[in-house]
Amino acid sequence: MLAGLSPRTVDRPRFPGPANRNSVSVLTPGRLCYDPYAMVKKLILATPRGFCAGVVRAVDVVRIALEACPPPVYVRKQIIHNAYVVDELCREGAVFVDSLDQVPSGGTVIFSAHGVSPQVWSEARSRSLNVIDATCPLVTKVHVEAIRYSKRGYTIVLIGHEGHEEVVGTMGEAPEATVLVSNIEDVQALEVKDSGKIAYLTQTTLSLEDTREIIAALRQRFPMVQGPPSEDICYATQNRQLAVRELAAVTDLILVVGASNSSNSNRLVEEAINSGVPSHLISDVGKIRQEWLQGVEAVGLTSGASAPEVLVDQVVAYFERRGSRVEDLVTREENVHFALPPELRQPPNQLHVLS
Ligand code: SF4
Repeated sequence: MLAGLSPRTVDRPRFPGPANRNSVSVLTPGRLCYDPYAMVKKLILATPRGFCAGVVRAVDVVRIALEACPPPVYVRKQIIHNAYVVDELCREGAVFVDSLDQVPSGGTVIFSAHGVSPQVWSEARSRSLNVIDATCPLVTKVHVEAIRYSKRGYTIVLIGHEGHEEVVGTMGEAPEATVLVSNIEDVQALEVKDSGKIAYLTQTTLSLEDTREIIAALRQRFPMVQGPPSEDICYATQNRQLAVRELAAVTDLILVVGASNSSNSNRLVEEAINSGVPSHLISDVGKIRQEWLQGVEAVGLTSGASAPEVLVDQVVAYFERRGSRVEDLVTREENVHFALPPELRQPPNQLHVLS
């Protein structure tokens, strides 16, 4: 499914840009102004970046439902954590709601990629809603593990961020049996009724490094703790974080395109900073600040799993206009695809995926 590759950089053809300028800081009395033409020599694009298989599937689900189902088609919560994509789907006819009571009885509603708790499913059934489930299969896998451990009488320690939709959904599978920890201090404060029957699960979009430390602390306090047979942090989260580590070795600054409520995008910024490189999360090209670029020769660019490539392209064009050379840093190849939910296995002929 995934092939590890030696990192390689590939030159890209440049857009015609302005003549290269040397970076000059302009001094005014008592104040240092930033050079608006500060020259960044290179922009290095991380690969893999951007949309993961779960996000592609969720966006496809909305588009297919818009074609196949009688309107209106409702979507509970943001289908993925990206306002650009949500706005695009709104314009195409999707109606986004915060809760199911905004959907009329018998209406069609799509559950987002982050998953929902069994309580939400019950509410949908009681209101005879036509549900299309766009939950990422890798999130569903964590739900199944939670059910399995709770049936065997285990206390489940869920490692994740309080309030994140995925965490709310997973905790809902076994609310009585699940405790949430977000850091090592939470582990130290944990009280469980039977330390011989304890298992951990994780949110899919966590920092690899932080999670490793939390699991180590758990093992130290509870040597009998069990974990899932395979990693809960998903392939896309892992690959994007590992790519940022490689990017940090060859850049002075890393920009991450993604939404402020996107967990995996925020983790990419942390990964860059932990690797010793300043980093900023930008929702789009308009958020780049001149002062970040002063004295920077090589900028790294990546994007979270819910950020569409069109937003990355706009950042690339911005640097190309300023005369930067653009290269790709390829660290992994991804070839992961998920089947559509059973409700949509007879799709219209054409899929439209944001790119
Ligand atoms: S980030 Fe991972 S878990 Fe989340 S939708 Fe993408 S593949 Fe699924």
